[in-house]
Amino acid sequence: MDFDPDAIPNFIKSTPIPEVLFSVYESGPFKTCTVCGEVLTDGRLYEIQKVFRGKEAVFEMAVCHKCGENVSKEFSEQSMENIKNFLLANFKPTLEPLHCHFCGFPRGLISSFTIVGACKENSLILPSVIMCEKCGERLQEKLSRKTREVQGDFIHDNFPGVPADLDLSPNLSGLFT
Ligand SMILES: [Zn+2]
Ligand SMILES: [Zn+2]
Repeated sequence: MDFDPDAIPNFIKSTPIPEVLFSVYESGPFKTCTVCGEVLTDGRLYEIQKVFRGKEAVFEMAVCHKCGENVSKEFSEQSMENIKNFLLANFKPTLEPLHCHFCGFPRGLISSFTIVGACKENSLILPSVIMCEKCGERLQEKLSRKTREVQGDFIHDNFPGVPADLDLSPNLSGLFT
């Protein structure tokens, strides 16, 4: 992995959650877990995930650590292993989320991408991560059918209004564990 040693201290410093990770629906920061409905800002870790098509957010969720774990527990072991390996091999961290963190393609030129932030209270504890649609597909291919079904059920159960053709990148929790 290509690590810039000078950037590391900034990586561990938490920063306020940027507006790009605010809830469009709530017109402000996420307040509750999309899955269990509990308050997010009580010190627990949580993860925000938004999918953009162009400048428009077409999907958003904030999931507390506990709910995230419940989902990934159902992923097959092989899939978890593949996710970890993919992230380790391809993830290139930067401070500013200006391009895909996996292929380096500039964000302004990507038609669809997922942005993920690991948060605690009102802060990002790690720089947000961007994954373009193509890299999302590459990662998706590494998952077992069972794992893809778990993901599908999770989305279907929690977001009944999400269109079936919306290609959601997999849960990136692997990055944060
Ligand atoms: Zn929850
Ligand atoms: Zn990419």
